[in-house]
Amino acid sequence: MTSKAFVIGHPIAHSRSPLIHGQWLKEHAIDGSYEAIDVAPADLPAFFERLRRGEFAGGNVTIPHKEAVFALCDSVDPLATTIGAVNTLVVRDGKVHGTNTDYLGFLGNLDANAPGWSDGPNDALIIGAGGAARAVLVALRRRDGGKVHVLNRTLEKAQALVDEIDGPFEAHGFDAFPALARHIGLVVNTTSIGMHGSRFDWLDLGLLAETTLVTDIVYTPLVTPLLADAEAHGLKTVDGLGMLLHQAVPGFEAWFGTRPSVTPALRALVQATLEP
Ligand code: NAP
Repeated sequence: MTSKAFVIGHPIAHSRSPLIHGQWLKEHAIDGSYEAIDVAPADLPAFFERLRRGEFAGGNVTIPHKEAVFALCDSVDPLATTIGAVNTLVVRDGKVHGTNTDYLGFLGNLDANAPGWSDGPNDALIIGAGGAARAVLVALRRRDGGKVHVLNRTLEKAQALVDEIDGPFEAHGFDAFPALARHIGLVVNTTSIGMHGSRFDWLDLGLLAETTLVTDIVYTPLVTPLLADAEAHGLKTVDGLGMLLHQAVPGFEAWFGTRPSVTPALRALVQATLEP
């Protein structure tokens, strides 16, 4: 029987997931489909009924449904609960299981593009304390690194995040950066700063050790001002597109039974759809 998968959102036309999964279906000659479906919030319960009837093997969930689906799933992975968002659904025997693969996407991207990145004893610094920061915090908790410092414009939000998620985490305002910089092995931007040419005016990359890895989860543009500045300082960088590609791997494997690879060809295909 043909296995069918989807991405649901509202609107949904912008999603690059059909391109990624469509490419893998072709590459592995799988008798399956992956379609973008626009589901308005009021229609979500009816869509879940279709899932329980077995119409789909599962699919992805994007804005604005990532939180709303919690109440509709039959079970949810504890890590998705900690992250506070479900981005992947898997249907088995008429039951819908919700999970979150963003943290795996983050780890997969760095493992592929900066092997050994988590071997050292250094601390990590996350900029931002929103939904994406939660996924990165969960990812870093799964590696035995040093402390994780969460720097946010609104200190209270950073404090609430580190209080909620168990681990060696500390909350700071942006003004803490100079005192922390020397001991940081990894800098992760999880805010939308970097889109439309924006950058952090307080972030003096010259204070970081020359071995520090800088990564951005913004991928439009692919080389954000933060990554360009880091490269100019001679620091290693990894862009955010790989996170999007790697987060798709576990879903495809669950729905279609084959573990796909993130290849340079797949990356080039998706990259061609991004602004330069
Ligand atoms: P969010 O929950 O709205 O959080 C936004 C964060 O950005 C907050 O910490 C906010 O600080 C900070 N921020 C916003 N504007 C700022 C400014 N002008 N100056 C300083 N800080 C600012 O958003 P999110 O869901 O975490 O998503 C953040 C970004 O990650 C989006 O661009 C999204 O597309 C991207 N993302 C990428 C991937 C991937 O696969 N690569 C996956 C998930 C998300 P305050 O708390 O002070 O407001």
